[in-house]
Order: sequence, then C-alpha cells, then structure tokens
Amino acid sequence: MTTKYAVLVVLLFSVGLPRPVAGGVETGGALVFRDARVFDGAQVLPRATVLVRNGRIAAVGPQLSAPDGARVIDARGKTLLPGLIDSHTHVFGPEVLRAALVFGVTTELDMFMSDAVLANIRADLALAETLGIADLRSAGTLVTAPGGHGTEYGVSIPTLSAPEQAQAFVDARIAEGSDYIKIVYDDGKAYGISFPTLSPETLKAVIAAAHARKKLAVVHIGSLQGAREAVEAGADGLAHLFIDHPPEADFGRWVAAHHAFVVPTLTVLESVSARHGGAALAQDPAIAPYLSPGGQAELNQTFPTRAGAATNYAAAEEAVRQLQAAHVPLLAGTDAPNPGTTHGASLHRELELLVQAGLTPAEALAAATSVPAKQFGLEDRGTLAPGQRADLLLVDGDPTADIKATRKIAGVWKLGVAVDRDAYRAELEKQRAEANRPASVSPGAKLGLVSDFEDGKVSARFGAGWQVSTDSLRGGKSKASFKVVENGAQKSKGALLIEGEVDAGLPYAWAGAIFFPGEAPMSPADLSSKKQVSFWAKADGRTYSVMLFAPSKFFAPIIQTFVPDAEWKQFTFKLAQFDGYDGHDLAGLFIGAGLPAGKFALQIDDVLFQ
Ligand SMILES: [Zn+2]
Repeated sequence: MTTKYAVLVVLLFSVGLPRPVAGGVETGGALVFRDARVFDGAQVLPRATVLVRNGRIAAVGPQLSAPDGARVIDARGKTLLPGLIDSHTHVFGPEVLRAALVFGVTTELDMFMSDAVLANIRADLALAETLGIADLRSAGTLVTAPGGHGTEYGVSIPTLSAPEQAQAFVDARIAEGSDYIKIVYDDGKAYGISFPTLSPETLKAVIAAAHARKKLAVVHIGSLQGAREAVEAGADGLAHLFIDHPPEADFGRWVAAHHAFVVPTLTVLESVSARHGGAALAQDPAIAPYLSPGGQAELNQTFPTRAGAATNYAAAEEAVRQLQAAHVPLLAGTDAPNPGTTHGASLHRELELLVQAGLTPAEALAAATSVPAKQFGLEDRGTLAPGQRADLLLVDGDPTADIKATRKIAGVWKLGVAVDRDAYRAELEKQRAEANRPASVSPGAKLGLVSDFEDGKVSARFGAGWQVSTDSLRGGKSKASFKVVENGAQKSKGALLIEGEVDAGLPYAWAGAIFFPGEAPMSPADLSSKKQVSFWAKADGRTYSVMLFAPSKFFAPIIQTFVPDAEWKQFTFKLAQFDGYDGHDLAGLFIGAGLPAGKFALQIDDVLFQ
C-alpha cells in the first residue's frame, strides 16, 4: 500500500526537519558493551561482553577485556540487539532514514520509490556510512499494470501489460538500481476500490524474469485469493497479509511448502482496520519526544473509510499464527509512511502486534533482525556475531520477555558510531517551541487584502511577500516564475502571471507562488479573525492547487484544488475546508500547479482573506 497521504507529509518543505549531519566522532574507536543481555538475532545470551572495532563486531564472549582506549559501556540491566530492519517502507528522502535510525532501525527495505528519488538518495547513501541515516535497499519503481496500484500518485511510472515485456521491464528496473523486484498483484476489491492489475501470466513472467537475474520477487497482494495466486506463481515473498478473509486451515503449511516468506505489515493493516494503533504509539512517552512533527502527523492520520472495504484484522492475525506454526519466515515491516504509520517508531508497534498475534518476543525480534537479513541476502547484518556490522540497538530491560522494552532505547549505533539521539530530541524540542510561539497580528493582516497587483509590482500589503516555490527545494526539476501583467480581474490594471513547467521527477512535484503572511518566510501570522481566502484566477483549464501551511498542522500541506478557465473567475475557500483549519498560525499560502507534468500559465488577482 502506498497512498497520497504519504507523499503529502514528506512535502513538508523541509522546514525545521532535522537534516542529516556529519557524525563520525567515534569512527574506528573501539567500543565495549560490558555485561549486556545479548539477543544475537535468534537466541539470548544472558550475560556477555561485546567488543566493537572499526565498525564491526570483533568479539562476543563472557569475559573479554577492554582494549586500551576503548569506550566502555556498562550494559548491566540492558539488552543489546542487532540494529532493526524494517522490511516494508517507502522512502521519499533522506530525512526519514534519520528518523528511522533514531528509533534503532538501522536498515530499511524500501518497497517502491520513483527512480529519480532513488538516484537522489543513492548520493546521500554514498555518504551514509558517515552520516546519521539508516542504510537502505530499494525496489525502486514497482511493477504494475497500466492504471494499476502505484500509478495513482500522479508520478508517471512505466507499466507492464504483457508477459513478453517482462524481462526487458525487469532489466530496466535493475539498471535503475532496484535491489529486488516489487510487483503489485491487487485489483483493489478487498479495499472497496477497483484497479487494473497484472494478469496471472504476466505476474508469472515477471517473477521468472527477476529470478533469471537472481533478484527476489516480492509481491504486494490485497486479498487471500491474491496471496494464493502470488505464491502459486513463484513469489519469493508477500509484501502484505490480507484482511478480507480468514485463511483456510492449511494456509500456513501451504505457504511453507512453497518456500515463500511473508511480511505481514500488521501496522498498516490495523490502520486500514481503523484500530488507531498509530495514534496510541504517538502518545507513548518513550516514543513521543523523538517523533518529528511530520512523524507525529503521520501516526495520527487515518485511512479513508470506503464502502465494501474489508477490515477483518483478525484474519491477518490468524494467518500470522499459521505461518509461524509452519515455520514460514516472517519479516517485520510497517509500510511507513502510510496513514497511521511512520518511519522508525512504527517498527516497535509492528513488533508488539506480531507478539499479540502469537509470536514469542524473541521470534518477533528475529523477524526484525536475522530473518530479513537472511531472506534479503544481507549477510553482514541482522545477527550479533564477530565480523558483522556494528549496527546495534541497546535498550533498557529485556525485550525478549516484554517486547515493548524495545522502545526504551539506551543507544543506537551504526557501524559502531553512536547516533546522537539527545541532539535530535533537542532539535525537535526547539521546533515545537517555535510552533507554539504566538503568531504576529499585523494591521495589514487584519484588513485581509494580500495583493491586487495594481502598482505593477509583485508586492503584498502585509507579511513577507510572495516567492516562487518549486520542488527544487527537494531536488525536483519543476520550474516557475512570476511577473505582474496587464488586464487584471474585474477590468483592473494588473494581475500576477505565474508560469512554468511541472516535472514528473518527484512523486510530489509542485511549482507556483507562495505568500508568507508572517514577518518572515514561514513564520506564522494570526489570521484567526478571517474565515476564508479568495482570489480571482484565469488559466488553461488544468487543475491547480491552493495549499496552506501552519506549524499547528506540522507544516504538512493542506490542499484544495480549483480549475480556472480562460475567463476571470473568483475562487473562494473557507479556511475550515483545509482540514478544519482556524487560521491562528498561518505560515504560507501556496497557489500553483502540481502533477500532472507539463507547462502551465496561471493568472491570479485580488488575493484576499475575509
Ligand atoms: Zn507499501
């Protein structure tokens, strides 16, 4: 599952989002964890000392002496585990990999991002060994039918319609850098939607094409029937379980006989089932201080409820029980950042849900460490043994007895380098303080008229004025410019022409103009005395967007659309239409174009809050 919501939250403009910073302070230094309880990926060593050297685990034993100059960490009462692996996420930028790492998720297995994002992130990952972000493997662009699931986000992605195209299609993905092949086999019916999907023959051909190149084929399914057909077609793994029907009694044994692994993604399934586990997680005192505003917003989002949508969460739990009993490899994955899930924090919820479904805590921990490492061929991680990467998680207490102890994080290391969680938390506290700062009320803002463009300038009566805003902030290639032109609305002199081109490189492409009502760009202004924003517009008949940004909405864009034509028309939006917004801390008003890609030219005039 991937949704539009995911895309929106990452839009965030990076305002206040913690950026990866250079760490590397301890690189190469020896590190000793003394007297830890060790979970080695499968079993518990009640008391052991672990020696780390040059980013790798050098030794694990009962009585190891610390080398000279080693940093010694007293780990009595604590448990040391391999860094966690989230086997189902969607990564839209490096920031989320930093959030993941802070929560002890040292590796993410992405299950669909656009090839442009993948190329961008590869550059960051080249630095990843010295930067504080989780390591990443990615499916890149997924394989889906024309109009199928994965195409609905406005990013133009290649699609596949016949078995004969499968090998060339898979080879193109591998050339783009896909580490494995993610395939959508889902007609949406279980969720009350209808999508075209691959035919069984094409599905089979894609799986065979992946295998011909020694790549794993992981299949997204949405129903029990889909799961059966995907496994039958030779899938190496399922990227979800299902909540439409309880499995037949033989389901677990049948999957085992076909040697497939399963990533249940209970976190997203419970969210689809309106169990609101994400909102509860956001309240957990062990989690909350380390949640970014974006992460918090994601956890509090819910899936839209649809008629005909299946929500039998117990079906997924029953399948987990059967699969575990039949020794099918189970991998912990969240499907972050879908509504109700977020990178990093949600993996701790997934572990809890796996235990609730019947796994022992140690089995759940294996599902987030040694099992995914083995299934995805990540031989240098997932177990705590000499020679392995020193990607480590140290927690208070014993998560092999109480799974929720994974949230009581005492430390995270990537390649033996400590993650500065205190600095991250301090950055977030600063952001929250900013967000709570009272917004300014200027006399101009009280009047409400933003711009009528009559003086021939791109000026505003209050606030910090207008700026061009495009996705180049996020590495995109969309372009925009604006200027005042003659012949405004209602026979007035001037109007603002915003023109440019939207590039489909990013899943959340945008280009247009943003007005800042506060004293500085993105600083909030109090417009709570206003009930609506209106403006006149004319354009080419394509769809345009109005987006509001506010710290109390975590700077996540709240979007309304409009379709201006060749005649000047007034468009009015109640502030409450924007997710119930009350105007008390408005930081930005964007007017412009999003996907689909292409050139655009929009004129606006008489922008007014009333
Ligand atoms: Zn997904």
